[in-house]
Amino acid sequence: MSEYRRSISLAVAVVSLAGVALVPSMIAGGAQASAASTASGSAATAAGGCSPGARTLSPHGSRLYPETGNGGYRSVHTDVHMVYDAAANRFLPGNHVTLTDRATQCLTSFSLDFERSSANSGAGPDMTVSAVTVDGRPARFGFAQPTYPGDPNGPGDPSPLAHEASQTDPVGGPHHNPLPPACTPELRGSQSPDALNGTQCPANKLVITPSAPIPDGAPFTVSVSYTGRPGVHNDGDGSTEGWFRAPGGSFVTTEPVGTEDWMPLNDYPTAKPTYDFYDTVAAGKTALANGQLVSAVRHDSDAEFPGGSVTYHWRSGAPVASYLVEDSVGNYALSSRRASDGLTYYEAQDRSIPAAKRAANLAIMNKQQDITDFEAAYNGPFPFASDGVVVGAPAASFEEEMQTMITFAGGSIDTDTLYHENMHQWWGDNVTEGGYAMTFYKEGMATLAEYMYAARKAEDKAGGPWTAAGRSAFRATLVSQFNSLYRQGSGFWSVAPSNPEPVGLFSGSSTYSRPAAAYIALWHILGTSRFTGVLRSVQRRYGGGSITEPEWEAAFERALPDNSNRCHAEMSRFFTEWFDTAYPAGGAAKPGITGPGLAGPGFSC
Ligand SMILES: [Zn+2]
Repeated sequence: MSEYRRSISLAVAVVSLAGVALVPSMIAGGAQASAASTASGSAATAAGGCSPGARTLSPHGSRLYPETGNGGYRSVHTDVHMVYDAAANRFLPGNHVTLTDRATQCLTSFSLDFERSSANSGAGPDMTVSAVTVDGRPARFGFAQPTYPGDPNGPGDPSPLAHEASQTDPVGGPHHNPLPPACTPELRGSQSPDALNGTQCPANKLVITPSAPIPDGAPFTVSVSYTGRPGVHNDGDGSTEGWFRAPGGSFVTTEPVGTEDWMPLNDYPTAKPTYDFYDTVAAGKTALANGQLVSAVRHDSDAEFPGGSVTYHWRSGAPVASYLVEDSVGNYALSSRRASDGLTYYEAQDRSIPAAKRAANLAIMNKQQDITDFEAAYNGPFPFASDGVVVGAPAASFEEEMQTMITFAGGSIDTDTLYHENMHQWWGDNVTEGGYAMTFYKEGMATLAEYMYAARKAEDKAGGPWTAAGRSAFRATLVSQFNSLYRQGSGFWSVAPSNPEPVGLFSGSSTYSRPAAAYIALWHILGTSRFTGVLRSVQRRYGGGSITEPEWEAAFERALPDNSNRCHAEMSRFFTEWFDTAYPAGGAAKPGITGPGLAGPGFSC
């Protein structure tokens, strides 16, 4: 960390000494930039109404990863051409990505997210960009610090206060910075959540200046060649995610932003290109990625791979959100089968997991088709052509709903979590949250799937889904789950699900059980057929894209049996109470509206 601080303060000092309008970012990136990139990028900015693309997709005032995403273009497709030495954990020469984008303004420059190095000197990345081309022509590039979203002074704001990390808005910190944060702190596990508030953000924006402006509406391709060691990202809660070292290779699990620690991309959930992966690895290694395996082509030995190599081509014709891109390489045993529901199911496990444990894991992995069919009965058809699970060896400390290739860490899988992650394939993967503040939307649905699994077990015990006793046990289990959550004390209600700090984004009731309880209440308010009708209509309308909180709430409101203003107002109050209100800890206040047959005041419409 200290090394990083020194490099940033040096960058700022150079700017003030030079006294010219160079952005700190260009200086910060100079160490790795091509010779051309050290020139000022301002020459093209005045050309014909063209301007640089925004260097964030986050809304003004966001305190959740405000540094991520890039504007001025739309992400369409990405070709990953990985050349990876799994034994050394390094990307080799030839390694590159090619992103196809479409300009949404005339662009003089644009950016990607790429953390080529970090303060995590052990497991963090250490990569070097060697070349960038736009439509095949060499482009200038450099690395920039992010600027807080909406800064009227633009991305090159010379004030250091515009580029500070914080958990909170405003930054506060030692200098009493009144501005919103430009990035979420990259905490080490042992640091207190606010330890980095007010420190400078790392220069993780890869700013690219093409040789000529890109016209509004034009498709263009940007190719980034890079080598070195991919790694993990230190998160706003002190955890790490990204490219984990596995025995003989890697294990990739990246929520919320760790994809930029192994490849440059538009790192924001709503940027959803389709993907082709062409992963060249040593013969004997297996590459796993999203979508379907198209081919695995053997090559003879060469200088990089003396024992020969294999290029795995995986293809996802479905768009993939930034944090759901899977690309693990290692000693994985991979199998696939075409199932009776028409889907291809992939199962992969690291061979370093003991055989008995692998057999136990496999018994659970084999339940994926049954779980998928169960969840499809509520959500509507499974949105992708394949589904899958990979059990990796590293203790990554969390499981993740990587699209069609769910990751389980630590060599182990459990059924309850498989229900959760598989539910995400509809909620989060196919219909992605419109921003990080909406993480609760999809985590609530996935948590609901865990409650439905418990209800399903009770149903089976009572006679199965085709018996009245079974159906009644299913309902009773969900009611009792709701009631036990609703009885929770004041701490349970003290964070509004739609307004967490980064440190609590992936922990606690506000992201998981509170929205799940709200969904049980909605289920009771609307009844099963209207509730599942909402789920299906949202999948149809927003599938392949993303959804905002107002859109999600409106979908439920449209399903109200009573269309009166009074009922719409009550539904609107329901969402304010359950999603948007922080009830003071230590008090008795909690959401007042529940649902018929549930603890609490019910729903009067
Ligand atoms: Zn989840």
